[in-house]
Amino acid sequence: MDNHTYDIVIIGGGATGLGSAVDAASRGYKTLLIEQHDFGKGTSSRSTKLVHGGVRYLAQGNIKLVREALAERGRLLKNAPLMTSTQPFVVPVFSLWEKFYYSAGLMLYDLLSGKLSLGKTRLLSRKKTLELLPNINPQKVAGGILYYDGQFNDAELCIELANTAERYGATVLNYTKAVGFIKENGVIVGVELEDMLGAAVSGGEVAGSGDVARESDGDSGELAREPIRKKVSCKCVINATGVFTDAVLQMDDPNADTLVYPSQGIHLVVEPKFFRGDNAMMIPKTDDGRVLFAVPWQGKVVVGTTDTHVDHIDLEPMPLAEEIHFVLEHFNRYTNASITKEDVLSVFVGLRPLVKSADSTISSILSRDHTLVVSQSRLVTITGGKWTTYRKMAEDAVNNAVFVAKLDGAGSGSASGAASGAKKCITKDLPIGDLGAARELAAQLIAADSSMAAFMTPAYPAYAIRVVDVVVAARCKYVRTVEDFLARRNRLLFLDARAAITLAPSVATILQKELNWTNEEREAQLQSFILLAQQYIIH
Ligand SMILES: Cc1cc2nc3c(=O)[nH]c(=O)nc-3n(C[C@H](O)[C@H](O)[C@H](O)COP(=O)(O)OP(=O)(O)OC[C@H]3O[C@@H](n4cnc5c(N)ncnc54)[C@H](O)[C@@H]3O)c2cc1C
Repeated sequence: MDNHTYDIVIIGGGATGLGSAVDAASRGYKTLLIEQHDFGKGTSSRSTKLVHGGVRYLAQGNIKLVREALAERGRLLKNAPLMTSTQPFVVPVFSLWEKFYYSAGLMLYDLLSGKLSLGKTRLLSRKKTLELLPNINPQKVAGGILYYDGQFNDAELCIELANTAERYGATVLNYTKAVGFIKENGVIVGVELEDMLGAAVSGGEVAGSGDVARESDGDSGELAREPIRKKVSCKCVINATGVFTDAVLQMDDPNADTLVYPSQGIHLVVEPKFFRGDNAMMIPKTDDGRVLFAVPWQGKVVVGTTDTHVDHIDLEPMPLAEEIHFVLEHFNRYTNASITKEDVLSVFVGLRPLVKSADSTISSILSRDHTLVVSQSRLVTITGGKWTTYRKMAEDAVNNAVFVAKLDGAGSGSASGAASGAKKCITKDLPIGDLGAARELAAQLIAADSSMAAFMTPAYPAYAIRVVDVVVAARCKYVRTVEDFLARRNRLLFLDARAAITLAPSVATILQKELNWTNEEREAQLQSFILLAQQYIIH
């Protein structure tokens, strides 16, 4: 066992887990967060990138959920101003009734955001709608409604949350998996961890160490790894593992009920020539009741999404042919474009951790609210919700962890954080990020060696990645693999998978030096990335 005891161990390095680490560490608890792969590798890098209240939940009458999400939207934009922005949306309408119905809903949506409004909802004439959405199919358009929501880079925010948690003293480890619980009298007192890279991981106190034999197995590009196991003791564990929630619940109790109903959503990324301008389009109700978005993001356009129940849970879910067909078909129907699979630069897929309900099996109407369960072993499980509400989910999870583990020595009080002497949650106004540390390091590196400022390859001038960007990502943004950089520090894999493959050798060469890889390791890294990137291309 590790020789110190954590107050709280958090399993899962997505929005919910990283938010919980920030919350717990900033309250002053000794905190460890472990993520089996890279931070954000799960659902949290695969969202539509919207910081939103969820307009469509208004139609389900869930005003409380929308109001809470709108408050969180406002807080996130305030606490992470450099990582978020305001995005105008246009909803085209095709009848007077639609204009009345959607404008009433979107006015209410804005009203519910109160002082945290991002801009006034406005009714648009047909002429103005066509002007704001230059690529819309004009047929039958009767007008539109303009409203505002937030936008962000989800994977970037994951890393900034990890940085923030570390700033408050947490240990955050990627590539570290929880593989078992240690119990005394049925109560969890420790976690068994496995280092998934089979070698030392950066920074943390519990990182594995020592020389581990690494050999290439030749064909697959994967390296044979020797697992390093380690045990840590703790007073409480938070299970924030998204669609993997049930696996962790059952690691605690093989007979535990399952909670999660995974629902897959895909996004297609296309060039902006197919959807010009700065405004996003939202179609609230397609033929089968789904929502369709086309949103400008990082110089491209993200089109999606779907809501398909799946039984198989994977860190790299695959798009279904019918999902691709649905998105292409509907984008072409509502715009004057006629894109085909060949026009798609990247397809990315995520799994929503929806929470099962006894009376509904249609995933598009399952609750998007979050659920918290405390097991007999005192395992605190938090799941459901959405990116936008991660902070509130984290607050609830930590309140419950504090309560069940009596972290403040309090036997009284309640899980809402009212225990006497309980350390209060401070994240409502907490600035998120490394406070400029990465930028400063980049400036120092360039001052010492001007070749650091060079762009990596002229092949894709649109994707100007400098040598220094990779070096800084390795030194202070937890990059361990080529994929970490090209998928989640820089978003090239999600924006243009073919370009990411082209740039991968240069990234691998810089990381080889930074992370002391052998030639064999560099090659294995490269091959494994290229194999993965093929899944983001529609063949
Ligand atoms: C298609 C789609 C679009 C969406 N769009 C939006 C949007 O625009 N705005 C919005 O607010 N929300 C959106 N959401 C919802 C949002 O993305 C999710 O609710 C959120 O990312 C879930 O975060 P999480 O931390 O709970 O799960 P995850 O991000 O999946 O994190 C869980 C992590 O746990 C790790 N893990 C699992 N088991 C272990 C273990 N044993 N040991 C260590 N680590 C483990 C996994 O590797 C994973 O990284 C969208 C979701 C989808 C699917």
